[in-house]
Amino acid sequence: MKRKLVMTPGPTEISEDVKNAFLAPVTNPDLDLDFVEHYYGVCNNLKSIFNTQNDVLILNGEGILGLEASCASLIEPGDKVLCINNGIFGRGFGDFAKLYGADVTYYDCDLKNQIAVEQLSYFLDENTGFKLATLVHCETPSGITNPVDKLCPLLKRRGILTIVDSVSAFGGEPIWTDLWKMDVVIAGSQKCLSASPGLTILSISPDAWDAMKNRETPITGFYCNLLIWENWYKKKSFPYTQPESNIHQLHRAVLNVLEEPGFITRHENISVKVRKTFIDCDFELYAHSGFSNTVTTILLPKKVSFVNLFDTMKDDFGILIGGGFDFLENKIFRIGHMGENCHEEKIYLTLKALDDAFEKLGVRKNKKLHKVYAELD
Ligand SMILES: *Cc1c(COP(=O)(O)O)cnc(C)c1O
Repeated sequence: MKRKLVMTPGPTEISEDVKNAFLAPVTNPDLDLDFVEHYYGVCNNLKSIFNTQNDVLILNGEGILGLEASCASLIEPGDKVLCINNGIFGRGFGDFAKLYGADVTYYDCDLKNQIAVEQLSYFLDENTGFKLATLVHCETPSGITNPVDKLCPLLKRRGILTIVDSVSAFGGEPIWTDLWKMDVVIAGSQKCLSASPGLTILSISPDAWDAMKNRETPITGFYCNLLIWENWYKKKSFPYTQPESNIHQLHRAVLNVLEEPGFITRHENISVKVRKTFIDCDFELYAHSGFSNTVTTILLPKKVSFVNLFDTMKDDFGILIGGGFDFLENKIFRIGHMGENCHEEKIYLTLKALDDAFEKLGVRKNKKLHKVYAELD
């Protein structure tokens, strides 16, 4: 495969040191206690990003495994689950909950705005009995970050457990898991952490563990059963063989985040500049509020199909950009500014290529994206 610049909202570019970490010496992860300690160290470093004292687990599967495992482990048939929905991932969470027998209530919000906290509060005055709620920190398809800092404490006050999909926000948006009383938070290796796809990371509160342990029915399945991980460190034993090379890679990626004090600020600054640039050049953003630090979603100019834009960017410039699926299919395009993608020069190259691609596709604009971007401070 030819080398490309991957500017999608995950998977992202991977830095050389993180790539090389994959090649670290291997051992037998089931027998070698040095590996158990190393792995535990990675979990502890991850806790610093989550800002939590809760247990942190790393599962061998993409972010979706984290979503499904949380639903499988926490939901019993008939449980009332509130699915808070302002986008494709938010709504999709309900499907996972239903797979495990949940009685799902959808709380549907405006798709172009972040979730309104007060309205949800009124809804919860009238509607009770929910065991847990699912919600999404950053709606990657629409580029909207939700106020989980207010939503999670609100739900906790009502005695509702939260499962938060933070896959595309984790690392690039502030997160204070304990302060915000988040029960299960899910992250992934291939977004802001900029490691290879294949690992999902979960922080699990004592209340969430209790809910799993106090179930009346056993958890269906094995791979999605989070309880098999309980006390793994005390027992110095994993439920199954861990993907050690991926763990070495994640270790390096997490250190890179922790060693850069301005990691979140870099995301915030670049996201502001990217949005200003598109607006200044007469593009329209999809979102109207809750603008994400990690991804920008822009409406496609009239008469441009995403396939043509994607192909031109890929074939002529070697750059991959994101598109829309579901109700956003062929309506938007997306730039990921997560982790390794979130650097001025990569954004500049992408915008310059977009200028040329749009020109080739017959879109006339008075200003050039890359020039406007370069002039912002
Ligand atoms: C990336 C992502 C996931 C993981 O799913 P994939 O689309 O398979 O990568 C889950 N939730 C959110 C919000 C994501 O952005």
